[in-house]
Formats: sequence, C-alpha cells, structure tokens
Amino acid sequence: MRYLSTRGHPTALNFSQILLGGLAPDGGLYLPETYPKFSADDLSDMRGMDYRQLAFVVLSRLADDIPAGDLKALIDKTYTIDTYCHGRQDSDYCQITPVRKLEDDLYILELSNGPTLAFKDMAMQLLGNLFEYALDKAGQDINILGATSGDTGSAAEYAMRGKHNVRVFMLSPEHGMTRFQQAQMYSLQDANIFNIAVRGVFDDCQDIVKSVSNDLEFKAKYRIGAVNSINWGRIAAQVIYYFKAYFAVTSENTQKVSFSVPSGNFGNVCAGHIAHMLGLPVQKLIVATNENDVLDEFFRSGIYRPRTAAQTLHTSSPSMDISKASNFERFIADLTGRNTAKVAELWRAVDAGGSFDLKPDGLFDQLKDYAFESGSSSHADRIRTIRMAWEKYGVMIDTHTADGLKVGLEHREAGIPLVCLETALPAKFEDSIQEALGIQPERPAGLENLESLPQRVEIMNADVAAIQAFVAKHAND
Ligand SMILES: *Cc1c(COP(=O)(O)O)cnc(C)c1O
Repeated sequence: MRYLSTRGHPTALNFSQILLGGLAPDGGLYLPETYPKFSADDLSDMRGMDYRQLAFVVLSRLADDIPAGDLKALIDKTYTIDTYCHGRQDSDYCQITPVRKLEDDLYILELSNGPTLAFKDMAMQLLGNLFEYALDKAGQDINILGATSGDTGSAAEYAMRGKHNVRVFMLSPEHGMTRFQQAQMYSLQDANIFNIAVRGVFDDCQDIVKSVSNDLEFKAKYRIGAVNSINWGRIAAQVIYYFKAYFAVTSENTQKVSFSVPSGNFGNVCAGHIAHMLGLPVQKLIVATNENDVLDEFFRSGIYRPRTAAQTLHTSSPSMDISKASNFERFIADLTGRNTAKVAELWRAVDAGGSFDLKPDGLFDQLKDYAFESGSSSHADRIRTIRMAWEKYGVMIDTHTADGLKVGLEHREAGIPLVCLETALPAKFEDSIQEALGIQPERPAGLENLESLPQRVEIMNADVAAIQAFVAKHAND
C-alpha cells in the first residue's frame, strides 16, 4: 500500500513512513493510492470476528509494510477488555465497542469506554503502541507537542504514558476545560508527560504549536512530532469499528446500514467514508454538527466556508467547536476523483482564509455518488435529545452523542439500521447532564475522586520562546 498527498507531491510512501509525520511536503494529506476492496467473500469471513481479528484484517491491508506478526502483536496489546471496558458500571457485556439497541433499527455504538471516556482512545491507544514500535525499530525517540481543548490531549497522554521513547508536551488553556478534563490530564504522574497550562485560550495554544512546528531548526534538533487529527494512523484505526458495528446490527451482507457521526475535524466520519470505500455496505454517513455548522453548510450547499476562531461559538458540545475541518481535504480529494491540482487550488483559497464553492464546476453533483448527508443542532436540541434518550430508552448520553442522535433521527429511513456513534461518556460533561436531567452522571469506577488527586502542571505565559526553552530543557529527560 502506497500513500500519496492529496495535493500531488510525487513521492509515494508506505504506512510506517507517514506514521510519525503530519502533512505531506506540499501541505496535503496522505491517502492510499487506491483503496483495497473487501469482496463479498471477505465480508462473509469477517462476520463473526472479534475486534482484534477485525482490526488485523483491516489494518493489514492499510499497513501492509508492518510484518504480520508484529502488527498482530501490536493489535493484541492495544485492544484489550482491560483498556476498553472499564467505562460502564452497568456493563453486562464486556466487549470492545458494543452496540446498544435503543429500539428496532436504532443503535448507539459505544466508543467511549476507554481510559479517557471519549472515542479518541479507540485510535490513540493504537497510535501509542505503533509509535513506540516504529521508534524502537529506528532507534529514535520523539517529543510530541500538542494543543488541546479537552479530549485529544488526555487521549494522547493516556496512550503515550510510560513509553520510553516518547515524551508528550501538551498545551491547554489555563481556563476553559472542565475540572474533570483538567484532572484527567494533570493527575498523570508519568515522567514522560508534561502538562503546560497556558495563560490564554485554546487558539493561543494552537498558535504556539504552529510557531514551533514552523521553526524547522528547533523541530529537527528536538525531534518534535504531533498526534493531531490529520494523522493517518488515527483514521485507519477508526475504520475498524465501522465494520464491527455493521456486523453487529446486520445478519447478512446484502443489508445496508447508516451511521450518524458527531463531527468536528471530520476525522471520525472520514474513517466511515474510508470504510465505505473499502467495501462496507453503507447506506448513509450522516455528518452531525453543533452550532458550528461549517460542514453542514457544505453538504447542503456545496460551499465550504471555514470560519475564524473568533467566529467559532463556544457550545455545550465543545469538542465539536471547530470551524475548519482538518480531514475534510481527504474526502474532497476523492470527490474530485483525485484531481490533485484541483485540490491544491481549492486549499490555496482555504489556506489564504477564503472559501470554495463546488456548484459552478459540477463537482457538487457528484456528491450523490457518496453516502453523505448532514444536519446541525443547538443547545436546546441537545438538552431535549438527552432527555428523550433518558426517558424513552433509559440511556444517558453526552452532549456530543446527542448531536449525533438528533441529526441521525432526522435522516432515518424505514428498514435501514441507524447506528449513532457515541463519542464521549456523560461523566465528562456533568453540567449539561445536570441541566437536562437534574442529576449527576455516574462516574466509572476508580474516577470518583479524580479531582482530588495531586496534579502536575506547569503554568506558563503564551510565550513561544519560553515554551521552546521548557521543551528543550526536558527533551532528553
Ligand atoms: C473529537 C471529538 C469529536 C469530533 O470528532 P472529529 O473526528 O474531529 O470529527 C466529537 N465528539 C467528541 C466527544 C470528541 O472528543
């Protein structure tokens, strides 16, 4: 399997070569040169497989440069019940990513039973083990510098903690995360994890990461890497649970299934698109946004108009408060039929702060060849949906999952199973649950006193030089 940039850079690389890097040299994102296809016979073989077996079948196609025995060992180490089934106290079914039936043809796909109670653990834990493996092979180490407003930072830290050849420097805004989210990260005592609370907002953190990444000399000297949402390894790992869910809600491979996906950076639903391209019988991929509805606007109008940080609203589904979907370019590359010159042209406009409209040149019409639909929701919708799920089905969902359920139901078709992806547990967003239901969500066992654990965090000004000095000082610890 060879990977190519969406913008036409000629060098093709394999999975391991793009694993540790981010963007292609021309600023594009990597995609498989062509998608491998699972045949009807393959799908029949996959039905009945457990998570690890499915992971192996899917990833051995996408990461075929990793020797099969090594890949299998990495998967077996990553996808364990221990890691992925401690989230639910009421768990009568300790499985990795079980589906919970709400009623006939309506399901929640539980993706948030991992260590940080959000779906990002599904991919990030694998990435941690892949990084360690690849770095060991190369005899290297890496210093990951990231910025988080909540879920990504904790998922990355829990995936990388204790890895001998990885250090994590995670910037977060001093105020803005929930107390639970702060405690999740700051209570980690591992020597390779460095939490930096920045006196500023999330955008200040992200700007610092960008400045450091653009300082090529510093980046090379201190071996700076990233685990952001454009990482292909994360997308590849997220493909697996679409297959898992499909087999869980169907009995034969002639059936189609729709998925509703709470979306921000378009990573999760992009993995659904890749699953579709690999041959999964998908009816619809429903892109659910909150009030930050840039993606919904595109799928309704053909106009992609990213917004600035200042135009991005703070909502009660904060992990979707994103107005520039970093993985969207991957889908647009497919939509154009891998016309890399066209993609490069479109993103020249986007990178200059502009927008594009796919209606005039007819590309928008080709959307019908794909499965996408979209919708958005408001705070009132989320509260109503959380109440509805609780009263009607006895299931407590978080605000992001509520965005997905609300929009999913609007696009539901009779006779087609609808799977709504759960992206976080309600325990992470207590205030909204309190508002909707008047009660506090249950905490998974062991997290009851999370906020009272000792915390390890460096509070620093939003000063690039100071943060570079901090990284340099600890880069060889
Ligand atoms: C990251 C995140 C999302 C958005 O996922 P994307 O892959 O960025 O589209 C949705 N919900 C939660 C809880 C998240 O943490």
